[in-house]
Amino acid sequence: AALALTLTACGGEGAGSGSTDGAAGDGDDNVMVGVAMPTQTYERWIQDGNNVKEGLEELGYQVDLQFANDDIPTQTQQIDSMITEGVDVLIVASIDGTALTSQLEAAAAANIPVIAYDRLIRDSENVDFYTTFDNFAVGVAQANALLRGLGYLDESGEPTGEEGPYNVELFAGSPDDNNSHFFFDGAMSILQPLIDDGTVVIPSGQTSFDQVATLRWELETAQSRMEDLLTSTYTGGDAELHGVLAPADVLSRGVINALQGAGMGPTLEDGLPVVTGQDAEVANIKLINDGVQSSTIFKDTRLLAEQAVTAAESFVNGEEPEANDTDTYDNGVKVVPSYLLEVETVFADNIQPVLIDSGYFTQEEVEAGQ
Ligand code: BGC
Repeated sequence: AALALTLTACGGEGAGSGSTDGAAGDGDDNVMVGVAMPTQTYERWIQDGNNVKEGLEELGYQVDLQFANDDIPTQTQQIDSMITEGVDVLIVASIDGTALTSQLEAAAAANIPVIAYDRLIRDSENVDFYTTFDNFAVGVAQANALLRGLGYLDESGEPTGEEGPYNVELFAGSPDDNNSHFFFDGAMSILQPLIDDGTVVIPSGQTSFDQVATLRWELETAQSRMEDLLTSTYTGGDAELHGVLAPADVLSRGVINALQGAGMGPTLEDGLPVVTGQDAEVANIKLINDGVQSSTIFKDTRLLAEQAVTAAESFVNGEEPEANDTDTYDNGVKVVPSYLLEVETVFADNIQPVLIDSGYFTQEEVEAGQ
């Protein structure tokens, strides 16, 4: 069974050098793929896992899908047993991108190609391919969405002529997730010049990645940091908070809880600060639809799953997957050939065309938030 290549790749120059010999099973029935996902506590990874599994099963492959509760030893054990079990290909969305070196060595020794899924696996030469979204572009889109929410940019991304200054606080993702740095760097490529010229002000003074990172992408961690910021910087009428750069919907919910808990809002119309997001989680789409959260970045995980399945199929057939980026993702040891997908920014006014018309959510799901 051949999977239709619905996405065309460009500029692939022969991806990596082959640790792939002997990876293929004798027939599709004998092919087994190990799929390691970080957690089931966050909607997107459940969808990712299920979509990848379904796509692989359509090819007639067997699938060992595991979720690791965001616990690093659990994930390393799961991958160890997939290798022992004799999988032909590994697809891994890592929890800690630097914690899998010995698993990947064992995979390479057993001629098992490794596809990094969404998050790059670092510090190993045994990462054969990377399927993800354009993570720097996610950060750029988040910063632009923040600026549009604040009124600095209009719908087409042009300056409105409003000059601010806008008081903003920054959040970043988990420091052990390679993506977090790309999101933050992408966002700062837009925000830093505006911070430098005084259009955007960060009243807390917390602007470095380390100061604003959120270990393991925990909602509660973001919520309590936001509560602390409100207490330390925004009480007593010193400064009014206008916007928060939140790099994922799970953190946006924590930030919004803190803001509303301090009596702000409850909606943007009532003065809730502008909060960004990422992933188009259904709960957050409801918040956007209800005028609470300002924006999110939609990453169509159906397409990502399809790419990972296509890459796995290439390896099974003894071929190199087609890359469309061969110079961005240096994992510390090598530049991993990658397939990057595009993202879309969602505000209340385009939920319908982007998420409902595309069949990602139904109207009912958006209204119910689940
Ligand atoms: C993913 C995001 C997700 C975050 C938290 C990142 O690696 O790219 O889509 O929001 O992890 O799970």
